[in-house]
Amino acid sequence: MTGMPDLGVRRGRGRPPHLTRFLLLLAAILLCHAQPPDIVLTGTFSGSDNHTYREVPFKVPAGTGRITIELSYSGRDQRTVIDLGLFDPERFRGWGGGKQGAVSLSETDATPSYLPGPIRAGRWKLLLGVPNIRPGVRSDFTAKIYFERSGAAPAVSTFSSAPLRAGPAWYRGDLHLHTGHSDGSCISQSGQTVPCPAFKIVSAAADRHLDFIAVTDHNSTSHYGALRELQPYFDRLLIIPGREITTFEGHANVFGTTEFIDFRAGSASVPTMNDVFRQVEKLHALISVNHPNDPTGEECMGCRWLAANADLSRVQAVEAVNGGNAEGPLAGIPFWEAQLNRGIHLTGIGGSDTHNPDDKSRAGVGYPTTVVQAAELSERRILEGIRAGNVFIDVEGRPDRLLEMTAASVGATVEMGGTLKAPMGATIHVSVHATQLNGAITEVIQDGRTVSPLSEPAIKAADFRQSFDMAADGGRHWIRVNIRNREGRLLIVGNPIYW
Ligand SMILES: [Zn+2]
Ligand SMILES: [Zn+2]
Repeated sequence: MTGMPDLGVRRGRGRPPHLTRFLLLLAAILLCHAQPPDIVLTGTFSGSDNHTYREVPFKVPAGTGRITIELSYSGRDQRTVIDLGLFDPERFRGWGGGKQGAVSLSETDATPSYLPGPIRAGRWKLLLGVPNIRPGVRSDFTAKIYFERSGAAPAVSTFSSAPLRAGPAWYRGDLHLHTGHSDGSCISQSGQTVPCPAFKIVSAAADRHLDFIAVTDHNSTSHYGALRELQPYFDRLLIIPGREITTFEGHANVFGTTEFIDFRAGSASVPTMNDVFRQVEKLHALISVNHPNDPTGEECMGCRWLAANADLSRVQAVEAVNGGNAEGPLAGIPFWEAQLNRGIHLTGIGGSDTHNPDDKSRAGVGYPTTVVQAAELSERRILEGIRAGNVFIDVEGRPDRLLEMTAASVGATVEMGGTLKAPMGATIHVSVHATQLNGAITEVIQDGRTVSPLSEPAIKAADFRQSFDMAADGGRHWIRVNIRNREGRLLIVGNPIYW
């Protein structure tokens, strides 16, 4: 180890003067970090440091779940190169060499070149190598280090520090996919059925031009490492960390955390499903009941939702459409509507539950697609959009179909997922906007029953608007729409507006 000339360690939370605070904030915004760095390590290399290594220690506080490091340095124009590696208190954690970009490590996933594993409190060390610095050249380096507390939701996305696309839009995705990290399989080079690598399913979703996916292997957390590696390559397809909590009394997808969730509902460690929900709440993640009406037994173990005393007001969504089961005995819509009738506001979503990325049938990736109105294409905003409920399910997963619905009463207007205050006798004016559904039929459902407020329910143009009025009776109600083709097949499943 060489000497440590003018090595400065500044605590990022040490009340800097206003200007410094402003510059830190500006830099943080530019880097898409919601917080300034927790530690800034600085130092200088000179020509005499050529072909040397330097260890730069820093302290990781207890309770840290993720470390992110950004290294920058001057002198690149004079061909200075500084390599980066890392040791935790016990072992070597990686060597990225001169690769550019931020490094992120957690228990479950790490930037390629680095090892996932426990983020132990204590003395960690950056390892800086100098493969080239010219005689007489001085290069200053800055390493910004961010600590994310265990259980914190990511400011933007788990696998990307910036949104993949800016601005509000309807974003399309598949929220239920499996890889070889659970029981997803595909055909190998020699024709064998093998555990399918994550790359294949993500690639299949990209081929379907989806905006986002959640990979939801059963109870596992091992796929997050693979997904972190894939996100920079798939820079138009947001990858959301998901997991199918798979219990003996039901399945539920959890989105937006990479931390372990004890799935053993009914065991001594997790007595009831509500104890699963409690863990999800602590992790600020989103949970959705999957295929609640599937059969259960030796064909599909624990597949039907049987968790008798589960408090579904602690759940945010339900998989109203799983794969090709939009209707029929396995459909999830009746379960969903029964919860809505109990006054529980759940967003209806869809997921293909694909276990084979090569399946190009109507059971493959993107059938159905969940379409979410979100402020930008990031994990945080997509999950916020699902919570808010301005969402519809496109059963056939087309790239251009759209359903928008608003309801207005007493001066207020809400979209799907919203709640209106409508006193007895008030008129509720409902507007429906559908695109690329010419010739289809709008079906209006109030409190689980089909009603006929539209004198002419047919959609008569590729861009079509319909409206109708309902009368409030002072009671609690919800309304949503389906769109069916002329043969009655379900094409679009809308989410409710409540009053
Ligand atoms: Zn399942
Ligand atoms: Zn599944």
